[in-house]
Amino acid sequence: MTTDQLAFLNEPPNPYWLASTPTTNYPQLADEISADVAIIGAGITGLTCAYLLKSEGITVAVVDADHVCQGTTGHTTAKITSQHGLIYSKIKQQMGHEAAQQYAVANETAIRKIEELIRVRKIDCNFRSQNAYLYTEREGYIKKIEEEAKLAAQLGIEASVTEEIDLPIKIKAALCFAQQAQFHPRKYLLSLALDIPGNGSYIFEQSRIVDIDDKKKYVLKTSAGHRLNADKVIIASHYPCYNKAGLYFARIYQERSYVVTVKTSNPYPGGMYITAEEPGRSFRSLESEEGELIMVGGQHHKAGQGIDTREHYKKLAQFAQATYPDAQFRYRWSTQDCMTLDGVPYAGQFLPSTPNLFLATGYGKWGMTNSMVSAMIIRDLIVKGESPWQHVYNPSRQTIAASAKTFVVETLNVANQLVEGKLSGAPTDADIKPGEAKVVIIDGDKVGAYRDEQGTLHLVDTTCTHLGCELHWNAAELSWDCPCHGSRFTYEGEIIEGPTVKPLKKGKEQID
Ligand SMILES: Cc1cc2nc3c(=O)[nH]c(=O)nc-3n(C[C@H](O)[C@H](O)[C@H](O)COP(=O)(O)OP(=O)(O)OC[C@H]3O[C@@H](n4cnc5c(N)ncnc54)[C@H](O)[C@@H]3O)c2cc1C
Repeated sequence: MTTDQLAFLNEPPNPYWLASTPTTNYPQLADEISADVAIIGAGITGLTCAYLLKSEGITVAVVDADHVCQGTTGHTTAKITSQHGLIYSKIKQQMGHEAAQQYAVANETAIRKIEELIRVRKIDCNFRSQNAYLYTEREGYIKKIEEEAKLAAQLGIEASVTEEIDLPIKIKAALCFAQQAQFHPRKYLLSLALDIPGNGSYIFEQSRIVDIDDKKKYVLKTSAGHRLNADKVIIASHYPCYNKAGLYFARIYQERSYVVTVKTSNPYPGGMYITAEEPGRSFRSLESEEGELIMVGGQHHKAGQGIDTREHYKKLAQFAQATYPDAQFRYRWSTQDCMTLDGVPYAGQFLPSTPNLFLATGYGKWGMTNSMVSAMIIRDLIVKGESPWQHVYNPSRQTIAASAKTFVVETLNVANQLVEGKLSGAPTDADIKPGEAKVVIIDGDKVGAYRDEQGTLHLVDTTCTHLGCELHWNAAELSWDCPCHGSRFTYEGEIIEGPTVKPLKKGKEQID
């Protein structure tokens, strides 16, 4: 690819969903407020929980550290589908047929519920019914796809196998789920959010929850010292921002993936596509002001780890151009999602001993339906005391052999990152060019140094304020990222995303 074609990578990331919708301006939590349910996080999970609970006459207070839907939800690819890789075979093998059945019914119900909300509330959010395809270019995956199709059909999903798709890619087989959908996630959620404040319910922005006290009621405290009292709390902060119990930091890891959008003369055939095998690649269209664009996603890796992040964009751009030779690049962005040990989200009671504290996370990059499922489970647990899907999503489910193996691998990886970061030598010179970052030693301390394009050096302590891992530089997004649990910070040390609730310590005095 030519330097000109890659020039768009020199611009800052620009997620289309954020670029095409206004920034919200809900108030900060400034007084002491009470509600029946406090919800931490105003992404698709928090807002869906809030909407469903308020519809039951329950008052809610949603509190977000940033603005509504600027986290992972503002950077997703927003396919609304119950096709989550080869999930049904996996669940059946790990947890049995009944669990796979619950998962299928829950996610198909979620698609219909989102569709119904959009229809009833007349939300203009580019909702389009689509087929979803999981395709393979490898002989070895054909059988897996056929088995998944058979099982999905048994579970009630309109599933079939095809040997061709309409993308310019030669495949061996694809699993097709009919009656799936795509939308513009922020248009949908900003509209839903409008119904939340009022009659004792609230949305607060720029209010980070830094502590949860379990007294007679729950008392949530913000970094500015304000309080929110509630009978029940839902942690919808993506990676749980609550560390005092549950050992979730050892049960969740984050994966980062990349998206580029292209304009091409090839009319897009419709459909949403994803590979069954590595390297992961995904396609869907989006309707922009300049007409149809094609979103191409992929290049996932464990958050905060691996090669220079700019290489991921380059590889994805090369793939997009090989697929669409006249591709002109438009938007680019990346984001990360929480992964659980067995591939099934954690949604329900935070712990068996906390009947009023709930959690929804670990969607494994399938959060559009899983957030609706989680919100319905939590609503039902609060309103009726039970949900038909609570067992498969139970955050305290018994870990089975396969996930215990993942657990060992993942925690070993975290331990390695923790130790490796602390022991490895760091350069002692501060010869850093504009746009570059290095970890340097100043007075014996490791300091992360980034020199901006104006020449100012920004210094931060590269010890993650969550659990003390050593941060890595992310050159594509200009951020310091944690390789253990995925917290991210600006080069000035401010939090971009959790689980941490504390900014980085600023480095030594600024030097030029
Ligand atoms: C590249 C990529 C593509 C994807 N594509 C799809 C797709 O096509 N289909 C699909 O179904 N899913 C997809 N997903 C997954 C989906 O986008 C996510 O699972 C989902 O958006 C997560 O929503 P959330 O509300 O849980 O988290 P978020 O949207 O991140 O919201 C969490 C909110 O909590 C706030 N918060 C955090 N800590 C605190 C605190 N201490 N106090 C107050 N607020 C706090 C944050 O500011 C944030 O706004 C994709 C994921 C990735 C990474």
